[in-house]
Amino acid sequence: MSLSPEEPCRRWLAHLCDYVDGELDQSLCAELERHMAECEACTVVVETTRQTITLYRHLGRAELPEATRRRLKQLIERSVHEQD
Ligand SMILES: [Zn+2]
Repeated sequence: MSLSPEEPCRRWLAHLCDYVDGELDQSLCAELERHMAECEACTVVVETTRQTITLYRHLGRAELPEATRRRLKQLIERSVHEQD
């Protein structure tokens, strides 16, 4: 890919948590899935987020604590920056 991988990732950053939560708009969902097919960074972030959420559900917690959400967002930010 000759396009900068950074731009679309930054655009999707804000949506990744909603996507994992199943709260993302259907058309955006499809677009993000197309992006992830070509973007390892976003795929890894979504998988990590999903695993964390699955773990919390397994522990009997329906919602991610705000602190965990913040940590995930930092992880996402870092993944995007590592693409630089
Ligand atoms: Zn991406």
